[in-house]
Amino acid sequence: MKKTISFIMIFLIFINVYAYGATGYTNISNIALYNNASYDSGIKDTLKMSSKVEILQQNNEWCKVATLDGQTGWIEKYFITLSSERYVVNNTAYNINIRTSPTTGSKIAGQLKPGDKADYIDTYHSWHIIKYDGGEYYIASWFTDIEYKKSEKIYFLYDSINIRNNASLDSKVIAQGNSGDSFEVVGEEKGWYKIVLKDNSFGYVAAWLTSHDISSLKTEHVSYKKTTDDLNIRTGPSAGYDRILTLKRGETVKTVASENGWDKIVTQKGYVGWCNNYYLKEALPLTGKVILLDPGHGGHDPGAISYSGKFEKHINLSVARNLKELLNKAGAAVYMTRTSDTYITNKERGRLADKLGADILLSIHHNSLNNNNYFGLSTYYNTINYKSPSFGYDLAEAIYLNAITINGVYRDGILDRNFEVLRETNTPAALIEIGFMSNPTEEMNIHNISFQNVMVEKIADGIIDYFQKNNQ
Ligand SMILES: [Zn+2]
Repeated sequence: MKKTISFIMIFLIFINVYAYGATGYTNISNIALYNNASYDSGIKDTLKMSSKVEILQQNNEWCKVATLDGQTGWIEKYFITLSSERYVVNNTAYNINIRTSPTTGSKIAGQLKPGDKADYIDTYHSWHIIKYDGGEYYIASWFTDIEYKKSEKIYFLYDSINIRNNASLDSKVIAQGNSGDSFEVVGEEKGWYKIVLKDNSFGYVAAWLTSHDISSLKTEHVSYKKTTDDLNIRTGPSAGYDRILTLKRGETVKTVASENGWDKIVTQKGYVGWCNNYYLKEALPLTGKVILLDPGHGGHDPGAISYSGKFEKHINLSVARNLKELLNKAGAAVYMTRTSDTYITNKERGRLADKLGADILLSIHHNSLNNNNYFGLSTYYNTINYKSPSFGYDLAEAIYLNAITINGVYRDGILDRNFEVLRETNTPAALIEIGFMSNPTEEMNIHNISFQNVMVEKIADGIIDYFQKNNQ
């Protein structure tokens, strides 16, 4: 008995020390990696949205990080969302195979025995990535559970959020919570968090309605502004602080916070600092851009048919309409390949983008497989018969990197596919598969209007990021 206790204590100390090897993800596109923990220390590189970093060291405001390609540098904590430390647990009575890649045909590297747990890294293509034997391996998500390593809170982002007795939208509502309420999270499955209620019983909440890291940047706090004169950026919110650099008149910047007439901004090159906002004017980020949205399928072509019998063509149209409204508000001229339940060929959809002289084409779909275990979001681009394949990739990537920041949305990849709608155009084009209609839980999530609202905001953020990068 005594031996067991001391073993557990050593184990806990190990975990506490190890916590500083935590990982995080950047929560804004194109952010500077600094030489030191200050805005005027010079930048080494810029990182994309959702770049994974290892946290090497932290002080009050800054994190020293290592990037996946081996660079080290400093990023302000505000621009990193720390990822939760989780285990993958085998709660079944059977051994579960650990594999070298996310398919049932890949090599077996070992087994997770009943009751055993392994460090969770991420979820890709419906397989959990775990630490095993000093490396990264895959285990089927549908046989395993995710549990949180230590007490951690989630915060509700909206009012009147339902708490249910199971991880799906058709389960019973047992309580409600409002914006700002917090709960301890102990597990997660297919877009739902398992939380602890006041009487210590468990409930489930839709993950996309919650936030983990309340002190990091939220994308809804980002606005776009243009400089009206040459403008100094300083290390703090007054003219008394050191100058970092001077922006040229007419440059677009992202404002992420404001204080006493000064804005905290991120420049197009990724620098962070403060400017007197008298010289900044609100600017719609998509002014002058022409966008063609393509709700997939229609008419006699229903697209995928969901687990419960719903047609893909309807949800594609509903998402496209919702997205059009947001893109209009951001200043874009938005066209649709169809606005009702009609059939058009994929060739016509692709060609229409060229006819309109559109800047981009985005085709909206929902996925399906004959195996209902699979879930996750993917985007596609095409490199065949296409003048500028890098633009298609950039669009697919920017949308993907924003969409996967939603809690409960899992990665299924950015893939090069010879889809007809992408092939039949010379406009930069991408296709999104938002989720799997064949998965009973994800089918309900993607039909939920609150999920759709969060999703279209992130798709719009991705489109804005694309145009910030490729300012044609
Ligand atoms: Zn489809």
